[in-house]
Amino acid sequence: MLIKTDGIVIKESSYSEKDKLMTVLTRDLGVIRAFAKGSKSFKHKNFSATQILNYSEFVFLAKNGIYTLREASLKNTFLEIRDSFESLIIAQYICESVLHLVRENMESNDILRLVLNSVYALTKNKFNKRIIKSVFEIKLLSILGYQLDCNKCKLCKKILEYSQYFHTSGFICENCFQELNFYERTQCIKTNTSVLNAITYITDAPCGSMFSFSLSDKNLKTLSLLTQKYIITHTERAMKTLKIYEEYFRLSKKI
Ligand SMILES: [Zn+2]
Repeated sequence: MLIKTDGIVIKESSYSEKDKLMTVLTRDLGVIRAFAKGSKSFKHKNFSATQILNYSEFVFLAKNGIYTLREASLKNTFLEIRDSFESLIIAQYICESVLHLVRENMESNDILRLVLNSVYALTKNKFNKRIIKSVFEIKLLSILGYQLDCNKCKLCKKILEYSQYFHTSGFICENCFQELNFYERTQCIKTNTSVLNAITYITDAPCGSMFSFSLSDKNLKTLSLLTQKYIITHTERAMKTLKIYEEYFRLSKKI
């Protein structure tokens, strides 16, 4: 059966001397792996469409649960992303997150739209790149059903007031924080109303305005730590690209 869908390549690996195995976040099939025969050659018609971060319309042959690329029509390359190391590594981190959290046959239209919007924003100098990263993390988890509750304590369910903490996968109140053991308390991130308001804004904002807000450097750092911790809780693994991103920040002394 031939299936036409569009998607962005989130991973490419060598399969044989001439062939490639690519992983694609598609609009209709979730994340799939597909053989791209001959596409390692510069001269092959599908060479560009099968490269990581390129967005194309694809025609796949699906047979016995295996996908093989038949045709590809390149739609966007996001080449400007390579002008900034920070943008490039965040884009690769976006790909790695999708790889770990999105499966084949999952509803993926909104996720593809989020990824395309985030990668596009990374090619522009209009938005703070840490905001783009945090927005992507919150939106992705929200689409997957892990929406953060910024109103109630995750443990006692009381309304959150001035002092809140982020604990593993949700916010807790001061009282519940005091009842945690010492180790658990060291794992919490102290937050505040500005950060919670930013998360509520991101969760509710449509794609067109989701990056359009500002935070102080201190609050942006808190937001960034929190959203990163939240996504790690769900991927349940250390991500290679995240380590590179953190090292980049350490070296550039931005943290
Ligand atoms: Zn509580």
